[in-house]
Amino acid sequence: MPNWGLELVSVGAVAPVLLRKLRDDLAVCLAHPVWIAEREEPVTEAFSRDRRQYSADILLAALLQPEPDEWVKRLGVTEVDLFLPVFAHVLGSAQLNGAVGIASTHRLRPEFSGEPSAPEVVRLRILKEVLHELGHTFGLVHCGLSWCVMSASLLPEHVDLKDPSYCRSCAETMGVPRDGILSFFLKGDTP
Ligand SMILES: [Zn+2]
Ligand SMILES: [Zn+2]
Repeated sequence: MPNWGLELVSVGAVAPVLLRKLRDDLAVCLAHPVWIAEREEPVTEAFSRDRRQYSADILLAALLQPEPDEWVKRLGVTEVDLFLPVFAHVLGSAQLNGAVGIASTHRLRPEFSGEPSAPEVVRLRILKEVLHELGHTFGLVHCGLSWCVMSASLLPEHVDLKDPSYCRSCAETMGVPRDGILSFFLKGDTP
């Protein structure tokens, strides 16, 4: 019996195929159970008219309802653009040492920077972003190793520099395999 599992929640409308691939990729990287919740969390309450963006804080609070079981981490996945009071935008956010986090595909899409769409690029970027926010829920802060998925990234270009994998120290804290990246690329369905 694994000691923790990860529930993915669609926050606003999210392409089902993106969510399913993300679930499968995460299960390979984490070697823990990963599943998609039945519910879809609405985003309307979190919309800021001034900023034309959505409050990550409000969405995190909503994801905490109902409170997940102690062994469950709950990560929201959204297509909308997120902000925090101190940041113009964020790719994601999470409770440090808590139960919930959220990650957004909005700025991870090449279309956002005027480039042609590339679903496989988005697939790898959102995987890394979710792994990163999940690490925060285990109390991990930003890692000094640039390739570790726990290193900081405010821009998609930073995300591209990281591996979909934790360094030894970060992996030990979470109880996940260090060869997540190897498993991910070896499974034959590479991005
Ligand atoms: Zn972070
Ligand atoms: Zn690390």
